[in-house]
Amino acid sequence: MRVAVIGGGVMGCATALALAERGVDAIVLERAVPGAEASSAAAGILGAQAELHGRDREADLFLRAREAWIPWARELRGTTGIDVGHRVSGVLRIARSGAERADLEREVAWQAGRGLRASLLDPREAHEVEPELAADVVAAAHFPDDAQVDPPALLRALMAALARSDRVAVRGGATVHGLLLERDRCVGVRLDEGELRADAVVLAAGSWSSLVPGVPAAMPAVRPVRGQMVLLEERPPRVRTIVFGPGAYVVPRGDGRVLCGSTMEHAGFRKEVTAAGVHAILGGALACVPSLGQAQLAGTWSNFRPHVEGDVALVGASQLPGLWLATGHHRNGILLAKVTADAVADAISRGEHA
Ligand SMILES: Cc1cc2nc3c(=O)[nH]c(=O)nc-3n(C[C@H](O)[C@H](O)[C@H](O)COP(=O)(O)OP(=O)(O)OC[C@H]3O[C@@H](n4cnc5c(N)ncnc54)[C@H](O)[C@@H]3O)c2cc1C
Repeated sequence: MRVAVIGGGVMGCATALALAERGVDAIVLERAVPGAEASSAAAGILGAQAELHGRDREADLFLRAREAWIPWARELRGTTGIDVGHRVSGVLRIARSGAERADLEREVAWQAGRGLRASLLDPREAHEVEPELAADVVAAAHFPDDAQVDPPALLRALMAALARSDRVAVRGGATVHGLLLERDRCVGVRLDEGELRADAVVLAAGSWSSLVPGVPAAMPAVRPVRGQMVLLEERPPRVRTIVFGPGAYVVPRGDGRVLCGSTMEHAGFRKEVTAAGVHAILGGALACVPSLGQAQLAGTWSNFRPHVEGDVALVGASQLPGLWLATGHHRNGILLAKVTADAVADAISRGEHA
């Protein structure tokens, strides 16, 4: 059995790896280089609890996804020697007003009621967790089990793992111009050099997924939501906890690098980093952690979160037999990568529809 995977981001690479582990051959078709887009641009927060915001429907999935990361990071390191930077650094979500404090209080009570580790800290307790926090914090929600990985290291590890597998081929510079359709079934893809036939096709083209010709019109549209990022470097490293404030977050890698993000913009596929974007991110980040004002500005970038209105992602069988979906993960694609790859690879290797 051979599967063609459209897109070499975290979804395409992780799905191909999971297929190979189940004895299925896969070919990853990436129009640029693997990891060229959202997957390397992400902050890498595994914010299973910080990203919930009272959404009961997603809670089990998010928690399972965070759990799946622990053995996966270990496995990737074992096979490739590459450390993907998995660290349980915890998340603090801060409040500066009574209204923000009340929101956090509700969230913490709801999560604690589900048996999760979450607590509402007063300013003294919050500063014990993160001494670099701003002085005007009135309360903070602490999610000590949320974690992080380093996305560029993750993509390097996935590429190294794929290179070791004799079941997977990765082709960079391979643009898929359309799905190959025969008798209402997807039987492969069209490339520059002609047709590539496959027993199954996985659509993992991130924000570009809806643009691949032949994708069923009934599939919910995947649209880009631009996120800008700012990289700071502090010497020596001081910040130790991921901090979410209103309008910005701060992710310390532990080695002096601190990622600050991010905007949420409907800007089509325009990849600019804008003055307003950087201004908003740095304003929000420094309001959370004022000492970052002395850090060196080390870089900026932007990329596109693949967003599906009203859904957490598109995963599994599509309406078109032969076509499988691993796309539309919006803000949480790094968190959800392993559980998505396993779900899609399980279904394909068991020979389920599509
Ligand atoms: C600024 C920012 C911060 C983020 N932070 C986090 C975070 O902290 N935690 C988290 O969990 N998630 C985060 N995300 C979200 C996460 O990055 C995405 O959900 C995830 O990377 C999506 O992976 P993907 O493989 O679907 O898409 P992508 O990584 O975009 O990969 C899609 C690939 O498909 C290729 N492609 C497209 N069309 C074709 C075609 N026709 N033929 C061949 N190849 C094609 C593209 O070149 C691309 O490489 C963030 C995203 C952004 C932008």
